[in-house]
Amino acid sequence: NPSCVDYHPIKNAIWSPGEKIPYSALTRTLLEIEDISSRLKIIEILSNYFRSCIVLTPDSLLASLYLCLNKLGPAYEGLELGVAETSLMKVIAQSTGRTMAQIKADIKETGDIGLVAEKSRTNQKMLFQPAPLTVVGVFQNLKEISQMTGHASQSMKIEKIKKMFIACKDTEARYLIRSLAGKLRIGLAEMSVLQALALACAKTPPNQSFPPKQLNAAKNMKEDAFKSYYDDLVLILKSTYCECPNYDLIIPVILKVGIKKLPEHCKLTPGIPLKPMLAHPTKGVQEVLDRFEGLKFTCEWKYDGERAQIHIDGKNVHIYSRNQEDNTSKYPDIISRLHLCRTDSVESCILDCETVAWDTETKTILPFQVLSTRKRKDAKEDEIKVQVSVYMFDLLYFNGESLIKKPFLERRNILKQNFKESEGQFYFARSLDTSTMEEVQEFLEESVKGNCEGLMVKTLEKDATYEIAKRSHNWLKLKKDYLEGVGDTLDVVVIGGYLGKGKRTGTYGGFLLACYDQENEEYQSICKIGTGFTDENLQNHTEFFKNHVVPHPKPYYRFEDSLRPDHWFEPVQVWEIKCADLSLSPVHRAALGIVDPQKGISLRFPRFIRIREDKTIEDATSAQQVADMYSNQDQIKNQKFASKTVE
Ligand code: ATP
Repeated sequence: NPSCVDYHPIKNAIWSPGEKIPYSALTRTLLEIEDISSRLKIIEILSNYFRSCIVLTPDSLLASLYLCLNKLGPAYEGLELGVAETSLMKVIAQSTGRTMAQIKADIKETGDIGLVAEKSRTNQKMLFQPAPLTVVGVFQNLKEISQMTGHASQSMKIEKIKKMFIACKDTEARYLIRSLAGKLRIGLAEMSVLQALALACAKTPPNQSFPPKQLNAAKNMKEDAFKSYYDDLVLILKSTYCECPNYDLIIPVILKVGIKKLPEHCKLTPGIPLKPMLAHPTKGVQEVLDRFEGLKFTCEWKYDGERAQIHIDGKNVHIYSRNQEDNTSKYPDIISRLHLCRTDSVESCILDCETVAWDTETKTILPFQVLSTRKRKDAKEDEIKVQVSVYMFDLLYFNGESLIKKPFLERRNILKQNFKESEGQFYFARSLDTSTMEEVQEFLEESVKGNCEGLMVKTLEKDATYEIAKRSHNWLKLKKDYLEGVGDTLDVVVIGGYLGKGKRTGTYGGFLLACYDQENEEYQSICKIGTGFTDENLQNHTEFFKNHVVPHPKPYYRFEDSLRPDHWFEPVQVWEIKCADLSLSPVHRAALGIVDPQKGISLRFPRFIRIREDKTIEDATSAQQVADMYSNQDQIKNQKFASKTVE
């Protein structure tokens, strides 16, 4: 039983030292996790599995980690399985003798092709018993499937999947098919997997000879000491992963030298995209001045386009998205013009920029909607219709040296000394170093006239390092929206749909939205939405969500029964929403317990703005952010002030 407190990484494992890890060892762990909602328990169970990997079969740790995350490699490698659900249905049908119609009906009923695969397998009669699946074997096969291209690739993929499927035992089929369908459905977020790995290494250090002396360090240390040791490892692992989000590099180093020494080996490197620094919303110029009182700061225009991390290493150039996807082939025009912005002194660098659509005739910035019509991949330079210009706002790495620990003022100087502007192609973000209310206000209004979203206000000297992957208080955003409403839009996850009536019959007429509570890794309902959509929007959403309907709400959805939608959805898409204000709600669960012990927070008059393709569901507005936005509203602040004065 892998979850028992006294887990013994050798005795409790179902395989022996040096033996390849059977795939069933992993799927049993996933099965156990699937029904548990306590995050700490999940982390413990998974860490016990990792401890056995570390002790018995360290070279399988990487494959195990990727399978738990349902990934094939780092995001920027862009490996995708490319297997359609109908191909998986075909595999199940051909290997079990069931008909496609039966399988389809079962999927409709359960909403889970993995469960259908598992159930169908019990009908299977076998003449010869194939060799058992192993963790490394399955991962290798998935990778090979993703690399198959060309004409006959679909049938080759199907053959490979069939071979694995036939070899499945017990619950293996469920997870194999779910992995292939791209939905593991165990609600395991990446940060929990990293925590489980840190816990495993804290208890059972990886760099020991066999048999290891240290099987459970937690037993030999005082509880507090162990906790702070473990917390330390979590911090190091998470920050290294932010700088160098590539497990292919990180895991071998952990196995060799442990987590503590990881930062010496895995650092910021051109060619490996890092998670970007993000900003905190504010509700107006006064709040900015209050927050940055006594600090030197600068205001920059907040351009409304797409974030671009430009990595240069000699002749190698890459452009990465906000989510570390490789956008290089989307922007051949930027690549071919880079010589216009770099001086001869630049050998290697990582630039943080925003690309915006550009009107070459009027020489002005065009709205985000125009940029979003650009081809996403393999664009040919001479066929590009939407021109872009690039606004450089930060420099994170320069000629072999990481700059992230340097204050922004210094980074900005190095940026301006070594790069240059070029009309219609490359600009430095327009900025103003000021601390007067009037000038900030004026600059904000200018930015809006210049087709920008508002301002980014950044500390220059003190507390001014680049904070990777953080929504930092050293960057504040001041959006034009604050003039109209709550200071910022929200990015929320669509978890259910209500069928349309009247004019909207045949499509969804409304949706249930949720914010993401990072603490408990759950999605908490925040509002129903039915406005802001065009008819075409509704058609598209209906078409899209048709493929993501599930029969039951996920165990990590929090909602009140009266809100139950007609259809539940997988959490797969993030929408940007505007609202009039935020209020306490007896039915919605967003930020429950943060501002009020019994009430959640909901949005009043929510309107759909756009789909946020560049955000994953874990990037959605968090429960804490919702609570902060609520408390930051003038009427709430005034209430608090009033009650204090009465006291
Ligand atoms: P949103 O884009 O809706 O504001 P977000 O979560 O993507 O939300 P924020 O932290 O709110 O990101 O804002 C930062 C984003 O603004 C960056 O990711 C970048 O794409 C864009 N941006 C535009 N101009 C600048 C600038 N001068 N400095 C930093 N970021 C900028």
